[in-house]
Amino acid sequence: MMVEVSKEERVGPRRVAIIGGGISGLVTAYRLRQQAGRQSEKLEITLYEASPRLGGVIESLRWQDCLIESGPDSFITNKPFLLDLAKELNLSDRIVKVQSEGGGALVYSGGRMHSVPDGFVMLAPSKLLPFAASGILSPAGKMRALMEMVIPQRKVETPSGADESLADFVRRRFGAEVLDKLAQPMVAGIYVGDAEKLSAQSVAARFLEMEQTKGSVIRALMKNREKSSGARYGLFASFDGGIGTLVEALLANLPDVELRRGCAVRRIERKGAGYLLKSDADEAYYDRLVMACPAASASSLLSEVNPALASQLAKIQSASSVVVNFVFEKEALASLEKRFGRTFGAVIPLKERKASNLTLIAFSFASNKYPLRAPDKEIIVRAFLGGVGEEDTLAQADDVLLRLAEEDLNRLLAPTRPAHYRRVHRWPASMPQYNLGHEALLAEIEETVADQPGLYLTGASYRGVGIPDCVNSANLCAKKLMAELAESVYKY
Ligand SMILES: Cc1cc2nc3c(=O)[nH]c(=O)nc-3n(C[C@H](O)[C@H](O)[C@H](O)COP(=O)(O)OP(=O)(O)OC[C@H]3O[C@@H](n4cnc5c(N)ncnc54)[C@H](O)[C@@H]3O)c2cc1C
Repeated sequence: MMVEVSKEERVGPRRVAIIGGGISGLVTAYRLRQQAGRQSEKLEITLYEASPRLGGVIESLRWQDCLIESGPDSFITNKPFLLDLAKELNLSDRIVKVQSEGGGALVYSGGRMHSVPDGFVMLAPSKLLPFAASGILSPAGKMRALMEMVIPQRKVETPSGADESLADFVRRRFGAEVLDKLAQPMVAGIYVGDAEKLSAQSVAARFLEMEQTKGSVIRALMKNREKSSGARYGLFASFDGGIGTLVEALLANLPDVELRRGCAVRRIERKGAGYLLKSDADEAYYDRLVMACPAASASSLLSEVNPALASQLAKIQSASSVVVNFVFEKEALASLEKRFGRTFGAVIPLKERKASNLTLIAFSFASNKYPLRAPDKEIIVRAFLGGVGEEDTLAQADDVLLRLAEEDLNRLLAPTRPAHYRRVHRWPASMPQYNLGHEALLAEIEETVADQPGLYLTGASYRGVGIPDCVNSANLCAKKLMAELAESVYKY
């Protein structure tokens, strides 16, 4: 028999489980505690993390005097969510911005390195002269790209008919050369995805909006540039102790949250008005359940509880990636600096990779981006492998991945001495792919979740893979949960 008990009659705290101890799960726990305090709501929060380490893909390591990032190394500052959280956690004065004297990024094209034209923003130029002067595109390719300023905008009849692949969007507005030589590698560097499959609506919404509202992406970017100051790299930041600083600060602010490290949830059952979780440690009952793990994990855990939701979640695929960190003596890479100045790294287009038999998608000079990452005489190079279509490469053993990365760096950077530190970090199924129809799928998922009481989804799989977006997703998740708790009655 189910008995409803009013708010006044409640006895004992309500129990909330969070599955996943990446940034999304940790911020959800932090916000729940904070809100519970404000609402005088008694909550018992337990966070389950399969790995022995909290932080998910965020991990900042020390090696000698170097600060090494195994996963993300930056966050964007034009979204307020992470900056607001940093302020609350007293981290504002530990934020470090990308060093302004850096020389931007490179792209591999026609068998050699070129500077990405100054003012180029992921898909489109915001400055005409550097774009016209660049040797990356042919004269015809540049002409075609600049015609974007006069090409009429696409007529969007219905919201469902609005989605197109990122590749189609770029080809339609700027032509195939911009896609192959600039946009594809830049987007692959962020999403490790396939531009032919990624949803333009989900990964390039602001460019679509520029087309629709201003009639031209280039014209809108040029106008925005007048308003904003500084290079686009200036939008990125980290913390003095690396991105892991954020995880440490969150952990220091979760004193009464039970953190179950190395404790995977294996099975979930619906029980009464709540959920029974079977984990590596035990079985426990919770009133509310937050899935802060990747959609694929949520899908398999929810297969009995809600098969329809499980099959919707299974449609959000993820790509795997690998970061190989190297430390070189700076002098060993001096020839590149002589040619291009102090650069932040390079992207390698898919077509160039195939033509030149290269494996790397991109590499970056981590210690050129942020101060005090390495001693003056050393330089940290992060090499990126993997992504959609590279599953065979990632199936290789670490020593093979290391060799592939090193061989490519030898060809691209011609170091005069080998690196004296090398380490492979694997991130299996870690990068959600917002493929065509992602927005429509999210609408379906939200509808199904609305009929599944006490269940909440958060994390990178849904509305943004960047760390600030994950913080926002966790903020909203905790807010919704607490609002529903405040309204609800207990059911026994
Ligand atoms: C290599 C790499 C580089 C990146 N670089 C940047 C960058 O520079 N800037 C940026 O903004 N973003 C970057 N991103 C993206 C961003 O870091 C991630 O999207 C974000 O950190 C994901 O956080 P999350 O908490 O949603 O997921 P995750 O960090 O994946 O955490 C999910 C957690 O759930 C746990 N889990 C799964 N199943 C279970 C289970 N059954 N029981 C218990 N626990 C479970 C997992 O072990 C994992 O720890 C990068 C991502 C990668 C992979």
